[in-house]
Amino acid sequence: MDEKLIKDYSSPGRKGYSLPPLDVPEKDLNAGLGNYLREEPLALPEVSEVDVVRHYTALSEMNYGVDSGIYPLGSCTMKYNPKRNEDLARIPELTQLHPYQKDDQLQGSLEILHDLKNYLAEVSGMDAVTLQPASGSHGEFVGLMIIRKYFEDQGDLRKKVIVPDSAHGTNPASAAMAGFDVIEIKSNERGMVDPAALREAMNEEVAALMLTNPSTLGIFEKDILEIADIVHEKGGLLYYDGANMNAVMGYVRPGDMNFDVLHFNLHKTFSTPHGGGGPGSGPVGVKEFLAPYLPYPVLSKSEDKYFWDYAKEKSIGKVHSFYGNYAVMLRAWAYMVTVGGPGLKKTTENAVINANYLKTKLKETFELPYGEDSLHEFVLSGSKQKKEGVSTLNIAKRLLDYDQYAPTIYFPLVVKEALMIEPTETENIETLDRFIETMLNIAREINEDPEMVKNSPHTTVVRRLDESQAAREPDLCW
Ligand SMILES: *Cc1c(COP(=O)(O)O)cnc(C)c1O
Repeated sequence: MDEKLIKDYSSPGRKGYSLPPLDVPEKDLNAGLGNYLREEPLALPEVSEVDVVRHYTALSEMNYGVDSGIYPLGSCTMKYNPKRNEDLARIPELTQLHPYQKDDQLQGSLEILHDLKNYLAEVSGMDAVTLQPASGSHGEFVGLMIIRKYFEDQGDLRKKVIVPDSAHGTNPASAAMAGFDVIEIKSNERGMVDPAALREAMNEEVAALMLTNPSTLGIFEKDILEIADIVHEKGGLLYYDGANMNAVMGYVRPGDMNFDVLHFNLHKTFSTPHGGGGPGSGPVGVKEFLAPYLPYPVLSKSEDKYFWDYAKEKSIGKVHSFYGNYAVMLRAWAYMVTVGGPGLKKTTENAVINANYLKTKLKETFELPYGEDSLHEFVLSGSKQKKEGVSTLNIAKRLLDYDQYAPTIYFPLVVKEALMIEPTETENIETLDRFIETMLNIAREINEDPEMVKNSPHTTVVRRLDESQAAREPDLCW
């Protein structure tokens, strides 16, 4: 773990290369036009190839990622990304293009993007899709700007957006950025939106309800059609936060639940790498009546040609340079075409089975505050353990000692000491069993030696960091 700097491996005269004997006349670089040679040699480390490879491999092993093991961050969907997506996104025919090239030189690429839009529309039950937004939260903002423009067009200036208390923090933030006032409604004791509470909050000043279904508790809103009616009856629209699409794909479609606008997180649902700040991709889908408001240019097809259509007078405008994060789209397209419709359905099935397996095995030891049936993720509470003086944060830190990543903690806010667990469909039963065994072990340790758990992690490269300082002032120097 205590890896030295590369310069500390240096030994005079050691080399990582060999050159064939000189077969041309030797030339003195200082004879002639000027002095080309350094007076002092550069202070570069003198190391062999094996020194270099071992050094950087050791550094890479201090990290943890989806390629290392389970990464059960609830809501984030950190699943394994098949390497064939990477292979496809790297072929020179796709990477050696420039967005300023003419449409007729890019027909193959445009066809891929056009197909991707169609697949997304099909999976979600929407009529039109833009690929421009760069993330889920960017998609939310774009969706809300579309809603805003739609109401402006109707001469109906609605100022409010309703968001349930279990929502992801980006929902109220996006609504506020798009110029709306946010009204929060409380979930009921089953962890769902209460139609009566919604009816009370809903009126003609409300532009939209933003909903995640299943919610961040992993619970499907069974009253969704009634909820949609309540909003539509007062002229409002329904926004679907599609981050949990991997819980329903192939089974139900947000469009059929009567949502009007949604975003996808290609980097969650469709198996493209994410984390560390990007890049992602958050396409937005809408029903037909909102299609004129989508960002331009719109990728269209006339006869056999694909082209970018800028003639969109009602469009909210451009929201990304060029056409969005193309390389992420390529990976998502590769994933969708290789697994196909039945594969996406199977993905959903396995995600739900895996989460329910973990839930069943852990719910005796850790409190399960909402007992409703859940889909691809579930939320436990560490409140029993908190009574022993050990917080959820401590449990998360202790997991790292077992070489496993921690779940999302302290979110959603409706659960005290929350542990939000999403194993994803790509983990096998041995990996799930190992995670279960580790969690049960930690619960036992809390009874036997709480101080040890409180001081964890013990085996990681760095120990307890000041979390906000670590995020704001990363220590990148030796
Ligand atoms: C991840 C997530 C978002 C935000 O998506 P980003 O791509 O991270 O911006 C929004 N809502 C939910 C429920 C999420 O899990």
